[in-house]
Formats: sequence, C-alpha cells, structure tokens
Amino acid sequence: MADGIWYEDDIARVVVTEEQIRVKTEELAKQVAADYATVERVLLVGVLKGAVMFMADFARALGRCGRPVELEFMAVSSYGQRATSSGVVRILKDLDRDIAGRRVIVVEDIVDSGLTLSWLLRYLASRSAATVDVVALLRKPDAIQVQVPVKYVGFDIPNEFVVGYGLDFAEGYRELPYVGVLKPGVYARA
Ligand code: 5GP
Repeated sequence: MADGIWYEDDIARVVVTEEQIRVKTEELAKQVAADYATVERVLLVGVLKGAVMFMADFARALGRCGRPVELEFMAVSSYGQRATSSGVVRILKDLDRDIAGRRVIVVEDIVDSGLTLSWLLRYLASRSAATVDVVALLRKPDAIQVQVPVKYVGFDIPNEFVVGYGLDFAEGYRELPYVGVLKPGVYARA
C-alpha cells in the first residue's frame, strides 16, 4: 500500500489529476458565471451518485465567481445495462422542487453514450425548465456521435473505464481525488 492510501495499488494510470480537475473546474465556472451573469440563481441539477464530487466543487467555484446557486439531485436507473434512446430510464429520486421557468444546468460526471443525458434533457424540458445547459467533467468519444448538446466539457478522455472523483467500480473508488484506470487484476478479484 503506497503512502498508506488503500487504493493507490489498484490504479494502473491516472487519466486526470487532482490539480487538472481543480484548474478546469475554476475555468468552467468562470465561463458559466459569465454566460449566466444576469440569472438571479442558477439551478444546478446533479445526477447521483457519480456527479456528487464535481457538483460540490463546481457549485463552490461558481460561488467564488459571485454566482448564487441552488442544488437539486436526481437518481435514475437504466433498465438493463444501458438506457435506450426510447427513454427507458426509471426515476429513483425525483427533483424536490418545481423547476418551471428556471434556468437549469445539468452537472454530469461523464457522458459516454449520452443516452442517459438525452433522456434527462427531455425530462427537464417536460418539467418546463426555461433553459437547460449541460456541464460535464468528462466526455468519451462515443458521446460526440450522438446529438447531445454538452455546452461545457472538462476533458475529452479515451474510451476506457475510469474510476474516481465520484465514478465507481462496484460502488468503490468514488473517493479518489483524481480520475484513473484500474489495474486488470482488480476486475479479476471482483
Ligand atoms: P451514458 O448514458 O452516457 O452512456 O452513461 C453515463 C453514465 O454511465 C455515467 O453517468 C456513469 O454513471 C456511467 N459511466 C459511463 N462511463 C463510465 C466510466 O468510464 N466509469 C464509470 N465508473 N462509470 C461510467
């Protein structure tokens, strides 16, 4: 165990460092703060559980840029391995409040196929949000092929399974301060 930190030995490679996340989060917040300068309170909607770290840091970064925010969380589950474009997504936790007329920003950890996100955007539109933008910390190559409008993107990463900074493998590794790839042996153990 390196440095007494349990997960270090399980990580093959760091894809995005803690410092890169910190700097990028500030950059994204500055852009959003400028674009939303006239909005009294931006409503951030995070999708549990993966987005929780990014949501917390992004909200505080917006605060430092002088933009007041409100936070809402949703939890959804896809039927089967993947959500389908026909929208087969089950809501496990809905919004606590009415969002009609609100300027909403969806805060996403990662956009892969984009299918979950496209369902979510349709759902938020059906709840009469005034506008919906998306900020995603990570984006994988497949996402570029589907028509999901992700206005603010942190990092384009290769098509491999990553963990950390909210993203899990079998519910573990969410607390890592960086995003990394697991050693193959970890999957063999699972
Ligand atoms: P999509 O509908 O865009 O294919 O899937 C998005 C969701 O799949 C993310 O919010 C995340 O929960 C999960 N996901 C996609 N890629 C990864 C990955 O590399 N690692 C982990 N841990 N989850 C991922």
